[in-house]
Amino acid sequence: MVAVVISIGDELVCGLTINTNAAWLSQQLAAVGIHVQAHLTVGDDMPTIIQTIRAAIGSCDLILISGGLGPTEDDLTREALARTLDEELVEDSQARAGLEAFFQRLNRPMVASNLVQARRPVSARCVENTCGTAPGLVARFDSTDIFVMPGVPREMKEMFDREFLPLLKKRSGGNVTRVLKLNTFGAGESWIGQRLGDLMKRTNQPAIGTTVQEGIVAVRIYATGPLDTVDSMLAEARRAVLERLGNLIFSEHDITLEQVVAELLKRRRHTLAVAESCTGGLLTQMLTSIAGSSVYFLRGWITYSNAAKIEDLCVAADLIARHGAVSGQVAQAMADNARRKAGADWGIGITGIAGPDGGTADKPVGLVYIAMAGTDGITVRRCQFAGDRYGVRVRAAQMALTLLRFKLLGLDAGVVLP
Ligand code: ATP
Ligand code: MG
Repeated sequence: MVAVVISIGDELVCGLTINTNAAWLSQQLAAVGIHVQAHLTVGDDMPTIIQTIRAAIGSCDLILISGGLGPTEDDLTREALARTLDEELVEDSQARAGLEAFFQRLNRPMVASNLVQARRPVSARCVENTCGTAPGLVARFDSTDIFVMPGVPREMKEMFDREFLPLLKKRSGGNVTRVLKLNTFGAGESWIGQRLGDLMKRTNQPAIGTTVQEGIVAVRIYATGPLDTVDSMLAEARRAVLERLGNLIFSEHDITLEQVVAELLKRRRHTLAVAESCTGGLLTQMLTSIAGSSVYFLRGWITYSNAAKIEDLCVAADLIARHGAVSGQVAQAMADNARRKAGADWGIGITGIAGPDGGTADKPVGLVYIAMAGTDGITVRRCQFAGDRYGVRVRAAQMALTLLRFKLLGLDAGVVLP
């Protein structure tokens, strides 16, 4: 079953209101195995609304429309639907009674314009709105079902859950869609894509796709099928992805990198100290955003200037003079001294050039050294990140978390690029 979601409202096409209705509806439809072919957003303009509904009718089994059912001049959906069906609008006595009861409950007079909301195309059916005035509509054109709902998100959701979802569940033949998100950090999207190879073929079921945000490449698995087999289909696809990406996957669903690292530190009863330069406290912020972080996080320094590195962390002035503040040597000294001063199991040192200025030929913008000091000695990694100032800083903090995660797991971080 294929659906199109049409959202109506000037505020949506102007960008004043974010179209959350379409996103929400897509999630609900996916959960019952209905494929959404397109989201169409149009302003409060009669010819455009009619044209959009007509075009959608030929291409799908189900159209879900939200918005434009209000009582004012700019609410055109009812009329547009009638014209699309080539039918008259008639008053629905039950809908009128419902409207009158609504205003009576609120002890408010009903103005004449509200009566417009009790009208429907002759062949359509009105659907009660239990939390607002605008009734919904159900119509059919050829073999396409058309469901119309109010634009107000709360009213739309209530009507969908109560009236439309039960209908769709029956209609979709018992199919459901399950989505699983596997999160990776440390390899580019194209590298992940190549590694997944044939698993990402567009015709596959379950379908597998990737999205990237702030350096985190998420692999999404969409499995659609009957309730009794969909979970095993998903598990099979998950196994195949794990086999190809292994330790690059740090979590499932919406669990963050810092949550994973915090869990590992807690489980091992290990403590941590952090010395940051270019990330300016971002790593500390991430590590302490988790409730109960005082168990593992002992101390953090933001040593932005050379003087701070020398005075607060006892980095040798001569080390900075010889190698520069952005160097593997300085990162190592920051990590080692942070660890010693705090008496922690682990020390992390970060120094780099977040940009946009300050880069040179041998030390370009995006160059970051991340050092990790632990009981087994100190390691340092030279990273070259792409992106703007924010992107470089976020990736540096995430890379530090990733390198620590590998250390805590006792694994070689060789698979992590760059
Ligand atoms: P109704 O059919 O319920 O009368 P309407 O379009 O006539 O809806 P509006 O006054 O235009 O009513 O919108 C009601 C509220 O719902 C506004 O705050 C509007 O921004 C919001 N809204 C409408 N459509 C959407 C949407 N697709 N996503 C998020 N919010 C929406
Ligand atoms: Mg509107």
